[in-house]
Amino acid sequence: MKIVDLRSDTVTKPDAEMREAMARAEVGDDVYGEDPTVRRLEETAAELAGKEAALFVPSGTMGNQVAVLTHTARGSEVIVDSEAHIFYYEVGGPAVLSAVQMRPVSGLHGPDALSLMEKAVRDEDVHFPQTALLCLENTHNRMGGTVMPQDTMRRLYQAARARGVAVHLDGARIANAAVALGCEIRDLTQWCHSVMFCLSKGLGAPVGSVLAGGGAFIDRARKYRKMLGGGMRQAGVLAAAGLVALRSLDRLAEDHAHARLLAKNLAGVSGIAVNPGRVHTNIVVADVSGTGLTAAEYLADMRKKGVLASPFGPALVRFVTHRDVTRADVEHAVKIISAG
Ligand SMILES: *Cc1c(COP(=O)(O)O)cnc(C)c1O
Repeated sequence: MKIVDLRSDTVTKPDAEMREAMARAEVGDDVYGEDPTVRRLEETAAELAGKEAALFVPSGTMGNQVAVLTHTARGSEVIVDSEAHIFYYEVGGPAVLSAVQMRPVSGLHGPDALSLMEKAVRDEDVHFPQTALLCLENTHNRMGGTVMPQDTMRRLYQAARARGVAVHLDGARIANAAVALGCEIRDLTQWCHSVMFCLSKGLGAPVGSVLAGGGAFIDRARKYRKMLGGGMRQAGVLAAAGLVALRSLDRLAEDHAHARLLAKNLAGVSGIAVNPGRVHTNIVVADVSGTGLTAAEYLADMRKKGVLASPFGPALVRFVTHRDVTRADVEHAVKIISAG
């Protein structure tokens, strides 16, 4: 049976060209700063993000957590959207690792972003924690891969900076945002102090993310990465795959077109509700409550028929397009889903 795997853009696999680059990678001990391929990846990533330096980390989660550790002091407060990955999907890491208090704000990525953020920043008061950090997410996973425009990022950044609050961007899919907006990654990341982005999403790289920021910030982040056990040795084998991935960012436009195609077709399927206008990038969120099934039941049924997707709520299902899904695969999935 043909299987179309739309669970996540993390399921992409390295192709022959990428494996060849991994096999040929020049390596050294990166904890000693001696892996030339890791250095090249970090320089390339810093350049893409328009930052002084970058740090190769094993996962996006570690990149975000190292950023929170580096930006905050114990007991300070972090403003974050209530649906953000850092708050929702990172196992409570900020509480354990950084001993910070998260301030989840509902709607932080909506039209009232600026006023919600300004209200959440603490004034000086003996009772209050100090607001240390604002975390943003672009594209926003739980909002369905939606893009935060440059101007919103700029206004949030300027307002945060004026209050002495640093801005970290969870840019796991920042390249998707840049491709969707038709701008460069650095046009967006100029409006944050640090950014994490993933190499392992949609581009075939097996492992790895990058944290980019100022030189002194990255020096401190490197120590926290070591503390968390993320100091890797001959990691050039992995960085080489990341470098190949970074050469193909433009291909994400294809995933976006596939997601639009999927959304447009699903919108016409009875029992399934999707809003094609919210499909900015490679994620489609569908409400399956009209089928009378829960998300888990719906997904189990689809799995039997060869279409894989992820649960996203009691009645919500997430489909993600990526490099290893062709237009024909999407058309096949539409056929299966439409048949119910
Ligand atoms: C995937 C993802 C991460 C974390 O990446 P991992 O490599 O899976 O740890 C962080 N933020 C967002 C928005 C993501 O989608």
